[in-house]
Amino acid sequence: MIYLDHHATTPPLPAVIGAMGAVMADSWANASSKHGPGQAAARVLAGARSAVAQALGCKPAEVVFTSGATEANHLAVRGLLAAAPAGRRRVLFSAAEHAGHLKLARELMDAGTPVDLIPLQPDGTLHLDAAARLIRSDVALVSLMAANNETGALMPVAEVAALAAAAGARLHVDATQWIGKRPFHFSEWGADAVSLSAHKFNGPKGVGALLLRQGVPLRPTMPGSQERGRRGGTENLPAIVGLATALEALGDLGAEAARQAALRNRLECALQSELPGVHIWSRGAPRLPGVSFLRVGNWEADVLLGRLERLGFAASSGAACSSSGSAPSHVLCAMGVPDEEALGAIRLSLGRTTTDTDVDTLIAALPTLRSLLPAAQAVAA
Ligand code: PMP
Repeated sequence: MIYLDHHATTPPLPAVIGAMGAVMADSWANASSKHGPGQAAARVLAGARSAVAQALGCKPAEVVFTSGATEANHLAVRGLLAAAPAGRRRVLFSAAEHAGHLKLARELMDAGTPVDLIPLQPDGTLHLDAAARLIRSDVALVSLMAANNETGALMPVAEVAALAAAAGARLHVDATQWIGKRPFHFSEWGADAVSLSAHKFNGPKGVGALLLRQGVPLRPTMPGSQERGRRGGTENLPAIVGLATALEALGDLGAEAARQAALRNRLECALQSELPGVHIWSRGAPRLPGVSFLRVGNWEADVLLGRLERLGFAASSGAACSSSGSAPSHVLCAMGVPDEEALGAIRLSLGRTTTDTDVDTLIAALPTLRSLLPAAQAVAA
């Protein structure tokens, strides 16, 4: 099976698996224990924290390890909101946020917090004029993703950071799909808090971090003594070491991005010449290098994905967390795409382990895919 779903998750590197196994075997003591084995585990934890800080351009004390980006996002929004001054209660989310994060927006709204969604432009990027209108003096916090998990569209983080700073609001950036794919330096973004998740860059699942700018007040959502009181619970040391190992292995992001973009562009050209009515969303926008979010004629996503799987390719209809339902992507809805078109959306996402041969094999299979599709829905886009 050729795996084309790297935005859902990525295979852990052999170095990550090795490092995690070694920690499980040798450093299993509790890093908060005062005895020798505990202190040895604490040193491993400190080493991983320094490596993460070094790779991401922040201070070790600014790294709060979490169980992943969902938790980091919750901690940022709930924690920064709870610590905001009394006159600032409004929270802004972009309409492109991860489905799980928008559930938090709904929960806040239901509990009486004023929440607004910053709309998107038809190409999937943020509507910056609308953001400028919405970021006012009553805003506690803006929560914006750096890159969308479905379309790959990049969001104007620096511009929103400037707007937030001018209005005295905090900025949280969900960089889950950005980190590992694009260059990142915490101090250059102007964000107060940034979320990341190891399984998006060939690390383990169930571990991530919130980078929190020094001096920014945050009320913990899971109080405890670990992580300088910002996140309770015994640290998942093997996973944290796996995260650090994956970050250290990233290497030259520019060369890898160029390689993936060339593969993706070749694939998109072939899709357009071999299949009828292919429409690729966000193609004209700045976007992540390895992703293509598209529909083919009027074929439903499930039909396309079923045929692709039969031919040996694993892809998805969008975010893994929402792809079990048949509702159209909220991101496409926010871009103004009609439901009947959005229901055809499939996402092909390449990664570090995707080879030229993988893409060539898919291109060679396109005529067969074409012949397997039911003729009735071959209406041109
Ligand atoms: N934000 C974005 C943009 C994502 O793509 C994902 C994962 N699909 C998450 C948050 C949630 O990450 P995790 O699986 O680590 O909770």
